[in-house]
Amino acid sequence: MAYETRDAKNISQTLGKTPRLQASRAKISQALLRWYDANARTLPWRVGPHQSKAGYKPDPYAVWLSEIMLQQTTVASVAPRFLKFLERWPDIAAMAAAPLDDVLGEWAGLGYYARARNLHKCAGVVAEQHGGVFPCTEDILKTLPGVGDYTGAAIAAIAFGRPAVVVDGNIERVVARLFAIDEPLPGAKALIKQRAGAIWPQRRSGDFAQGLMDLGAGVCKPKAPSCPACPLVEHCAASRLGRAQDFPNKPAKKPKPSRKGAVFALVDAKGEVLFERRPEKGLLGGMLGLPGNPWTDKSNKAMAHAPAATKWRRIGEVTHVFTHFHLTLDVYIGISPKGFRRTREQQWVVPKQARLPTVMKKALDLALKERGE
Ligand code: SF4
Repeated sequence: MAYETRDAKNISQTLGKTPRLQASRAKISQALLRWYDANARTLPWRVGPHQSKAGYKPDPYAVWLSEIMLQQTTVASVAPRFLKFLERWPDIAAMAAAPLDDVLGEWAGLGYYARARNLHKCAGVVAEQHGGVFPCTEDILKTLPGVGDYTGAAIAAIAFGRPAVVVDGNIERVVARLFAIDEPLPGAKALIKQRAGAIWPQRRSGDFAQGLMDLGAGVCKPKAPSCPACPLVEHCAASRLGRAQDFPNKPAKKPKPSRKGAVFALVDAKGEVLFERRPEKGLLGGMLGLPGNPWTDKSNKAMAHAPAATKWRRIGEVTHVFTHFHLTLDVYIGISPKGFRRTREQQWVVPKQARLPTVMKKALDLALKERGE
């Protein structure tokens, strides 16, 4: 099955094969880098083109930290949280020495909590096995906890200028359009990476990656690409075909299933609330949460999982959307009975000081509202 349009095939077959079209490949990278020099976003983890020309070098620790935080999370959400992390743990040694619970607490609300556990583990590995210095090659970077194909390439290119081919969601869209790749995702990923490799420059690899990211974020947007303003328009097959929005070919998403559960806000005489550390493995692993029942697609007996024998009152429900399902949680509130003893996983916390995942924060807020706090 032919997945690239003929127009695109002409470009990709010829790119890099003849001197004339090596020149074309050079033109794409030059056009993009020129645009990046004038339009780069200012981001707290980035050494921009002007700083770079003035001799500033990226800090691999900051590049790594930002790339882990940006997985599945938007630039706008990450920016302030990145600065807080950097203030609290300014280098790899500080992060490696931090208690895991502190890192998990600081991560609260960012989601995908395995990233925080891997962040802490990775800091330990770099500190102990690499002398506190990040390795600079993609292959070695990918052996670090939480560093996969994408992140390894991104750190190698952005922090060390290695010609590693970086393909995030923005770059995937730009490249799929440049070559009008019809093959549906996720099957098209290998072809997209190959085509990206065909236009990737040897020099200024990190700037090229960041330029494509910025182009995807601001010009080659998912719904309304601004082709007339694009520095790559004369090289773009999708634009030439008048079909920019058809690429990449993403199959319609299946509707997410629903799950239900219940959580219990047990309040003591001091107004503290009982929380429970969730098991390391699984959703919201290692984070604090209100005690509750397992989340399933069938209703199960919520009261069998109440943390104490007291008079529980249902005060409402909260909803949350995870990657693979919609969750509805019934929220109950109750007063801690005399003689209640918490388990080892449980702790009393002043509600305002609790660092919680978003869904648990929603449930706690409902409980506090009920108490007039
Ligand atoms: Fe995207 Fe249009 Fe630029 Fe092609 S010309 S890369 S579709 S913005």
